Amino acid sequence: MKHSQTNNEVSVSIRPECLKEYIGQKHVVENLSLAIVAARKRNEPIEHCLLYGPPGIGKTTLAYIIAKEMGSNIITISGPSIEKVGDIAAILTSLDDKDVLFVDEIHRLNHNIEEMLYSALEDFKLDIVVGQGPGAKTLRIDLPKFTFVGATTRIGMLTNPLRDRFGLVLRLDYYSLDELVKIIERSAFVLNIKIDDESAKIIAQRSRSTPRIANKILRRVRDLAQVKQIDKITKGIAKEALEIINIDENGLDYLDKKYLDIINNVFNGGPVGIETLASSLGEDKKTLEEVVEPYLLQCGYIKKTPKGRVAVNQIMIEKPTLF
Ligand code: ADP
Repeated sequence: MKHSQTNNEVSVSIRPECLKEYIGQKHVVENLSLAIVAARKRNEPIEHCLLYGPPGIGKTTLAYIIAKEMGSNIITISGPSIEKVGDIAAILTSLDDKDVLFVDEIHRLNHNIEEMLYSALEDFKLDIVVGQGPGAKTLRIDLPKFTFVGATTRIGMLTNPLRDRFGLVLRLDYYSLDELVKIIERSAFVLNIKIDDESAKIIAQRSRSTPRIANKILRRVRDLAQVKQIDKITKGIAKEALEIINIDENGLDYLDKKYLDIINNVFNGGPVGIETLASSLGEDKKTLEEVVEPYLLQCGYIKKTPKGRVAVNQIMIEKPTLF
């Protein structure tokens, strides 16, 4: 399989490899199964898919599953890594029929590249301008019939012409507690460590409804169990590891607590602008918007208002401590 892999190896091995193993997201799985079965019957690639939703929720995993279920190669690129029109032209012309081209962070594609993709996605043709000035010519090249899979955390930043070229637009949502427990139990099995139900639930409760976080916590708990030469994760080990990594029973970590502490105690509950918060915390604005705030909003700790962020009910949060 030809692809570039950005995530670490452990995470690759934990990834479900087929739709049957993919837990939750019923609506997405149903839509994709239908599209895959129909495409296979027609012996065609499946339609271009746009997957959107918060980080760590299973978009990349689904792109790999689509390729695997279609028996195709997957080529992975990240939107901002493609800088020149020539880069995308080289990738498109090297594809084979039915290959999956997966573009992560598609909302960060440069505008020239996006425009070049329109005809590639719609007609499987690539228009290349050769030469400059009055002597310049446009060459039209036929491309293989590939499937384009885009992933984004910010669908609102996509232009209409690009969004319209996806036959399937699928939204992935946060996971329920039961689904997270299943994901943790499955990951523990893949990682070859036993875990009891209570511990899986404790980890799930602190995973911010997100599988990537659940797996990350599970690996830390497994580390502690292995250091202590314990072959099964039980409540005691799970709680001890969570204390070491500083995640409380509400799933709040050091940065979340610091964020809430600053709004509550420095800015008297707000409103406070995101730029001000970012500089008070010494964090970049994007991390706050994409990593910290979605969970605080989801749990009702904060509200976004036109004047800035506001703490809701000034909930008592224990002072952040950095271990
Ligand atoms: P995204 O691309 O949305 O940021 P990923 O696809 O990289 O998220 O998923 C993060 C991790 O969570 C993966 O390593 C995968 O193992 C796990 N994961 C995500 N969704 C599921 C799921 N539905 N079932 C089981 N594991 C999942």
